[in-house]
Amino acid sequence: MLNIKEFVVEWKEKIKARVAKLMRKPVLVIVQMGNVEASNRYVRNKVKDANEVGIDAVVAHFEEDDFETIDQFKDKVTELALGCADGIIVQLPLPQKFNDVRYLLKDIPARLDVDGLSGKPGAQTPCTPLGIMKFINDTNLVDKTYKKALVIGRSELVGRPMAKLLLDNDYTVTVCHSKSGEFAIRHLAEDWADLVVCAVGRKNFLDCTYIDVPVIDVGINFDENGKLCGDCYVRHEKQNDLRSPVPGGVGLLTRCALMENTVRSCEQLEEEMRSGRYEITIREPEQKD
Ligand code: NAP
Repeated sequence: MLNIKEFVVEWKEKIKARVAKLMRKPVLVIVQMGNVEASNRYVRNKVKDANEVGIDAVVAHFEEDDFETIDQFKDKVTELALGCADGIIVQLPLPQKFNDVRYLLKDIPARLDVDGLSGKPGAQTPCTPLGIMKFINDTNLVDKTYKKALVIGRSELVGRPMAKLLLDNDYTVTVCHSKSGEFAIRHLAEDWADLVVCAVGRKNFLDCTYIDVPVIDVGINFDENGKLCGDCYVRHEKQNDLRSPVPGGVGLLTRCALMENTVRSCEQLEEEMRSGRYEITIREPEQKD
């Protein structure tokens, strides 16, 4: 299996070193609504990661009946973002009435969208594709001149931004989806690709027994015993199993990418300040008689 845990430990150390060079600690605001247990766990993990690398994470927790309309909730998200945040995220899933993350992030400055979900130009790169791409590049996972990647899944959240990022990194990319057909997917994965990214969300979707290239398993599913599992499996244990594990795989990369984006946002602000695009005046405190 691919060793993602070790990679993430090193990545966090690098982020920590960048934080140490900043003028102040970056601030990440995590907006949460309701009380979904899985969301509570995700939020706890994000706060833990933030603390580890030196980011101040603030959780703004709301109940569904705190707002009557999505516009009221959007205004609160904007207000929090404009406070003193370097990044803001809205933890998903949201209750149905508020479930439009693009709309909720509509009025925040693009730089602060550290989940990269607003679709705005200038927003940070979406965390799951960013984390995967960084792992692939930094570990030189595909050591070839001409690299071919198969992305299975075409969602706005994972498949599409992943395909774009691979293209931007000079991969030749094929994207499959629910209308591609099992035979074509298997053929592309086993005989064509140098790398497979599988983001479907179905357990036991991709048999990797005869796939000899790295497979990044994005899926989060539960098996019949309630155990977390990905989309990919092997029928028989094999010697050179190049899958990313679930758990302990893409989830860790995604979390670390959120920290990367938050620090990058803070660095961008400092860079803008240094380049003189903002005029900063430090006022002396007024003298009282
Ligand atoms: P999604 O919006 O449901 O998209 C699933 C994609 O899979 C769609 O493009 C769909 O095709 C495709 N698909 C469905 N059945 C297929 C089939 N039989 N053959 C080929 N393609 C098929 O899900 P998502 O948001 O992309 O997430 C995918 C999985 O990744 C989920 O399990 C999610 O929980 C997980 N995830 C994990 C992380 C992490 O950090 N680890 C982050 C994000 C998501 P159509 O477009 O044709 O319907």
